[in-house]
Amino acid sequence: MQINRRQFIKLSGLGAATPSLFLGGCAERPLPGQGEVAVTPTVCDICFWKCAGLVHSENGKPWKITGNPDDPHSDGRLCTRGSGGIGAYEDRDRLKQPLLRVRRDGKDSFEPVSWDEALSFIADRMQQIGQEHGKDRLALLSHGSGGSHFERLLKAYGSHIYAHPSYAQCRGPREVAFALTYGESVGSPDRTDMEHSRCVVLIGSHIGENLHNGQVQTLTQALDSGATLITVDPRFSVAAGKSDHWLPIRPGTDIALLLAWMNVLINEQLFDADYVARYTSGFEQLREHVQPFNPEWAFLETGIDPALIRKTARAMAQHAPATLVHPGRHTTWYGDDTQRMRAIAILNALLGSWGRKGGFYIQEKVELPDFPAPKPPKSKTDWKAIVQPDFPLAPSGLSQAVIEASIGEEAHIKGLFVYATNLPITVPNIRERLQRAADSLELLVVVDTQPAEITGYADVVLPECTYLERHDNLRNSPERVPTLALRTPAFEPRHDSKPGWWMAQQLAQRLGLEKYFPWKDYAEVLDWQLQQVGTSLEEMQRIGVKRFPRRTAMYFQQGETRSFNTQSGKIELYSGLLAEFGHDALPRYTPPQPPPPNHYQLIYGRAPAHTFGRTTNNPLLFELMPENHVWISPSAAVEHGISNGDYIQLKNQDGVVSNRIRVRVTERIAPNAVFMAHGFGHNAKGMRLTHGVGADDSSLITNVKIDPIAGTTGMRANFVTLVTDSGGSEA
Ligand code: SF4
Repeated sequence: MQINRRQFIKLSGLGAATPSLFLGGCAERPLPGQGEVAVTPTVCDICFWKCAGLVHSENGKPWKITGNPDDPHSDGRLCTRGSGGIGAYEDRDRLKQPLLRVRRDGKDSFEPVSWDEALSFIADRMQQIGQEHGKDRLALLSHGSGGSHFERLLKAYGSHIYAHPSYAQCRGPREVAFALTYGESVGSPDRTDMEHSRCVVLIGSHIGENLHNGQVQTLTQALDSGATLITVDPRFSVAAGKSDHWLPIRPGTDIALLLAWMNVLINEQLFDADYVARYTSGFEQLREHVQPFNPEWAFLETGIDPALIRKTARAMAQHAPATLVHPGRHTTWYGDDTQRMRAIAILNALLGSWGRKGGFYIQEKVELPDFPAPKPPKSKTDWKAIVQPDFPLAPSGLSQAVIEASIGEEAHIKGLFVYATNLPITVPNIRERLQRAADSLELLVVVDTQPAEITGYADVVLPECTYLERHDNLRNSPERVPTLALRTPAFEPRHDSKPGWWMAQQLAQRLGLEKYFPWKDYAEVLDWQLQQVGTSLEEMQRIGVKRFPRRTAMYFQQGETRSFNTQSGKIELYSGLLAEFGHDALPRYTPPQPPPPNHYQLIYGRAPAHTFGRTTNNPLLFELMPENHVWISPSAAVEHGISNGDYIQLKNQDGVVSNRIRVRVTERIAPNAVFMAHGFGHNAKGMRLTHGVGADDSSLITNVKIDPIAGTTGMRANFVTLVTDSGGSEA
């Protein structure tokens, strides 16, 4: 098959409705009372927390979304972004019809086509790939629950290659480290029992800026009941402002602090000796390992006063086991991230907080059977051994490895589906590799609701309707109370958009795989599943959320013996598996790379109004926060002659220069660092509100540190100088 050289296509004009931009999109909506109000249950899709909500409409027009009061996930409240979900539905820039890449006069562009043309094109290309290379040569990169429909399709075809950037670009090190230590991961939502914590330790975790609903609420409950809060952050974050102890650590030295805390707990006999003896293995190796790392040693690395290190270690011990050293979520920082997360896991074990009230609770979900259908055929190859052979301990696909395995004529992957993930700004330093992959692939399909940058690489763009217009899988996340929540359409799909489940089923029919999708529509699947657990679609359409009784206790019982899913059957302080694979069995501290002269450490993070770059074109959320700012210290501002509100650019250690970004001068950032919110600086012209607004941190992350254990992408080892209009930039 001929390999196409793809030109990146900017979706500038397609689907443009009117030139009016600001807050355009959203219809005027008078207060209700004049028409018929309907309420439809949903599960929010604005971030992965999946809060259950209620969509209120009047005469079929959207009015507002509120939290479902029966939902333990959200306690009946939505965050700012969830409340702005109607903006996603009304966004005038959303994708409106299927698009097919065509080349005329040597120039690529997209042409609107019918669904039949788009789906038949994809099915034909899949068949060609299967015949010429094998049916195991297709892959999926996805984010969000809707990706499961395409995973089912590719598995039915014979390809099992899939990855989610939420692993390699976010929580992978955490999941690997906790699985190595406890035999199971933290999970999502995180199994943190903060509502009962008496002491919470946040290490680079920005709860409050990062609005994971349940986390914000339970941290607030802990603080309201007088819990001690210890925050480790080079930035005076929102959480730092609420803390009893703020430890403004030197970036990249967290493992040194964690080792010093262990040193104090062990040497002052403050650890939970009974828990350690009953449940753990490797304590003697750990004791010996941490001896050199006393607080005085850690001070030289971290800049944290040894007395404060001792004081905070004692505070943790005082409240244990109701002390939670929070595992964080975005954990891909410096490339030694699995070791840092292992140190956090081990510290929690010393405090006896895993499985204990106020620490980490035991999650449960509903036992929900799958709709009866044949099992997909087994893949004829071990794809992980082919695509990511250097990372045998990575339990998930690595997005960057899947892209890499799509480059060149000999590449294993020949066809790629990308579902709801904007790879150019999600996977660091990937644009050139992504373009090469696009040049090599014989089929690249993008399924999305908006014309994000990734659509420019596609052969075919399939417009999905938003979560307010479709059914999806039931939410059945492991948590305190086993609960099901329903997402059901509140509105008909706008334009010519369709739900993902429909696209996958239609493709299956064209490929002769309909036996794997044996339902009339997705309502039939949901109703069948719900009936197996004693409810129905009809009931769930009324209530939205249903709670089920727990089958097991939420915490370890007094004196209970337990077996853990590790090699030794114990909580592994010393990891035999890591030693077997040639890695450090106990966390090792590696000093961070020093900044080049006159550079600032680049720190990025979240803003409460947005979820990555996926919401910056949402007209309601755009109005709340249209652009990001770069935080710089007053001393840096004076040095560069910069004032609050000025626009500057950032130039990284490899010479990459950002879009212009507005300055916020603040004492809340260390003098040697800058901070910016992630998700801005889009160059996709079709996202007209957010195009060119603010700066993109991911373009500045060109130094990517791969974690040797988890295979994940460390992104914090990047540095910038400040470029001003006068050119008077680099200090
Ligand atoms: Fe939606 Fe906010 Fe819940 Fe995320 S935390 S699912 S954005 S309401």
